Amino acid sequence: MTLTGHMLIGQHIVAGNREAIRGINPATNATLEPAYAGGSAEHVEQACALAWAAFDAYRETPLNVRAEFLESIAEEIEALGDELIERAMAETGLPRPRLLGERGRTCQQLRMFARTVRAGEWLDVRVDNAQPNRQPMPRSDLRQRQIALGPVAVFGASNFPLAFSVAGGDTASALAAGCPVIVKAHSAHPGTSELVGRAVAQAVKTCGLPDGVFSLLCGSGREVGIALVRDPRIKAVGFTGSRSGGLALIQAAQARPEPIPVYAEMSSINPVLLFPAALQKRTQALADGFVASLTLGAGQFCTNPGLVIALKSTALDSFIAATAERIKNSPAQTMLTPAIFNAYESAVNALADNTRANVAAVGQIGSGPNQGQAQVFVSDAADFLADHNLQGEAFGAASLIVQCASVDEMRQVTERLEGQLTATLHLDDEDLDHARALLPTLERKAGRLLVNGWPTGVEVCDAMVHGGPFPATSDSRTTSVGTAAILRFLRPVCYQDFPDSLLPTALKHANPLHLSRLLDGHREALTNDE
Ligand code: NAP
Repeated sequence: MTLTGHMLIGQHIVAGNREAIRGINPATNATLEPAYAGGSAEHVEQACALAWAAFDAYRETPLNVRAEFLESIAEEIEALGDELIERAMAETGLPRPRLLGERGRTCQQLRMFARTVRAGEWLDVRVDNAQPNRQPMPRSDLRQRQIALGPVAVFGASNFPLAFSVAGGDTASALAAGCPVIVKAHSAHPGTSELVGRAVAQAVKTCGLPDGVFSLLCGSGREVGIALVRDPRIKAVGFTGSRSGGLALIQAAQARPEPIPVYAEMSSINPVLLFPAALQKRTQALADGFVASLTLGAGQFCTNPGLVIALKSTALDSFIAATAERIKNSPAQTMLTPAIFNAYESAVNALADNTRANVAAVGQIGSGPNQGQAQVFVSDAADFLADHNLQGEAFGAASLIVQCASVDEMRQVTERLEGQLTATLHLDDEDLDHARALLPTLERKAGRLLVNGWPTGVEVCDAMVHGGPFPATSDSRTTSVGTAAILRFLRPVCYQDFPDSLLPTALKHANPLHLSRLLDGHREALTNDE
């Protein structure tokens, strides 16, 4: 497919009229063709008008039609073949196996939401039948279902050019909920975005859906992105990226005459707690696992283990020594963009200059541009508690080991943490009481708690929570990964005393969609022959 360097507004290929963005190969700093002229307010207006025109029809598409649409997007992405992988490699520096895996995850995610849509549980149908003879007052017939919020603006992430980008989790869950989507492409991978955007647009066409179900805009976040968030037809925002970017979008959304929810995933250092018995028994294995998780993908994962909390002991000294040995041997890796590399360098330099932290080890020096070196620092609990800067996110393969004098100090350090996506406990049977004592704090701090594993690697499934208190995300009640992500883009509507002919299909008395309903206070048992 020839890349056009243009945006997609519904089925129309539209040229931008603002400063052009070009992909940059971070491995060479070479700029990539074509140039993508940025969009402006006029393009935001066109895309929003189209999305709004599509909304009422799209949100009432039969469940099967919407599910087939999601499956069709997956097929179109797969049909792009190696061209997509090659372009994503060039724009991100990520290796082929990683991108092949990410494409698989993206398509699996779309198919998972197709299954979710078909099953219809998300409609959360509740029926309270009329009780005309109730005393002292009769009860009306009351029926509730979930409906789509409205058009959603999605900001693709730099570190997952497929799975958290144009057709990633935010887009898949919003489309599944019945919301048209307008994506603001990440400027780091415009070509990858165009390829995937055209796959989505093709699926819209194949499935005979209204044009405005999907649009893809390019350009500056500060112009196109903010205009999108301010547009009154946009009813929710999905974002993955920096804390400053997320906060700018939240402020724009809150300042609207009609404020809207922003589901922003921003910053997390994912504490790992090493309890004494586990540390004593598995010192080397823990160092191996830690360094592997820390350096995976040049550390550019939101679940990267950026903080280790452990008791001062000879076992911890051995763990630090084993970790340092592995870090010194770990090769530098190309980071996603020159800007992300520079931000990483600034963050690790600030840590190195901080008198409250000591450098334990630095990885090998790279030979090309934008190569991040892994780095591990060590600090005492008292210093960590005294300096909030020590818990800033250094996006990349950097981590801080905090040495605590007691389990109570481990608790104090944990208590001081900001909100996190994950918290990990490494424990043995003898550590269970310590872990139990810390659990209430950890539950308040993080969206996912792991035992004896590593936080990188997020399963896409029903039970996953990829979320957490601020600044991990802007709304800890939700997840951006897994089927529960659909709930972000829905709201309940109650229908009182509607004649059956006027009720939405999901709420009709005969339950024609065979949905599992909460009926007069009890979960209705469904039989196969219904
Ligand atoms: P970013 O700078 O936040 O950019 C993400 C998206 O938001 C881009 O489309 C960007 O537009 C837009 N944006 C940024 N600031 C904005 C603003 N003030 N107003 C409106 N839109 C704005 O994130 P990034 O480029 O992916 O990475 C930069 C840093 O984010 C990293 O160094 C890292 O610290 C952090 N990060 C964290 C995670 C995580 O999961 N925790 C993931 C990725 C990155 P433009 O196209 O104009 O830039």
